[in-house]
Amino acid sequence: MKNIFISGGAGYIGTHCVISLIKSGYSPIILDNFSSSHKSVIKKLQIISGKRVKFYNVDLRDKKKLRSIFKKHSCEIVIHCAGFKSVEKSIEKPISYFDNNIGSTLSLLECMKDQKIFKIIFSSSATVYNDSQPLPLKENSKIGKTQNPYGNTKYIIERILMDLAKNDSRWSISIARYFNPISSHESGLLKENSNGVPNNLIPYIIKVAQKKLPYLKVFGKNYKTKDGTCIRDYIHVTDLADGHLALLKNNKLKKGLNIYNFGTGKGSSVLEVIKAFEKQNKISIPYKYTKRRPGDVAVSYCDPKKAFKELNWKANFNLQNSLIDILK
Ligand code: NAD
Ligand code: UDP
Repeated sequence: MKNIFISGGAGYIGTHCVISLIKSGYSPIILDNFSSSHKSVIKKLQIISGKRVKFYNVDLRDKKKLRSIFKKHSCEIVIHCAGFKSVEKSIEKPISYFDNNIGSTLSLLECMKDQKIFKIIFSSSATVYNDSQPLPLKENSKIGKTQNPYGNTKYIIERILMDLAKNDSRWSISIARYFNPISSHESGLLKENSNGVPNNLIPYIIKVAQKKLPYLKVFGKNYKTKDGTCIRDYIHVTDLADGHLALLKNNKLKKGLNIYNFGTGKGSSVLEVIKAFEKQNKISIPYKYTKRRPGDVAVSYCDPKKAFKELNWKANFNLQNSLIDILK
């Protein structure tokens, strides 16, 4: 059984990666400080997988502790999902975002190097793409001019990884640019953390469906899109998790730096998402148009062909069937 360290393995995407890894015979070891997740998730992972799940409560910036953990296990690869991800909070507290996201990545890379672990998969985001790019977005589309401190942390980390790969040939680095992950494991046990009022579209619609919020605010109705609302590429989180497996299996984490879009390649507008949700769950979602949300780009969807060609990976779920069991 092959050990894989997974930072942020207690979070939304990390937990789904842990399930996929165990299913494929890997032995994931979670590194997480539970700053945006809850320890109870470990038990849920054990229920779903039927296996004991190893974890360490560690802040990646704590180099001493991280080094001692790395020494205890033989492992060649880190999947690096840990980080803060709220655009709004990053605007309120930019220093804390730079410190946590960039600081923890630098600390992780240094400890990996000391332990001679040179393979990493980094959770990046479609937010790194420059918003004036032709669509669909390809891995070689321009990045930068990010709209907020969160996006900047992803962009800066990508640049750090690019420099690292260029200047130290021992590294094998994969950057996975996630589009819009949605939904959760079929058990209904693993959810995107939605305490309080959610920021993301689907968690917000779920709260409206559960009558915990009165209506959905649709941010903007006059974008230059087919129905005036923003378009995104929504990908089932299980497909996303399987993308990481495909990287481990097919790419064998090639030397140097490789970038992959993880999306479906299909864009859906906010109104289309509402309609698909209503149809799937036979429920009406009341909504009102409000002003545009600062920093939103009108359209974002990817060309996922590179991942298919090189990793033999593509998304299996479309928007409609990603919404099955969403209220479970
Ligand atoms: P999440 O908040 O659910 O999980 C992140 C995990 O990282 C949490 O368990 C948190 O406790 C842990 N963490 C944060 N800082 C840490 C630190 N310093 N040391 C140790 N653990 C720490 O987020 P997610 O949705 O699972 O996202 C995972 C990654 O994917 C993030 O880097 C995020 O930026 C990126 N991403 C997410 C989305 C999305 O929509 N969910 C989209 C694109 C990219
Ligand atoms: N959105 C919306 N109302 C909400 C949340 C989101 O209209 O309460 C829109 C948002 O403007 C964007 C799309 O839904 O066009 C997806 O937003 P989300 O925050 O889920 O993901 P993002 O693409 O911003 O990462």
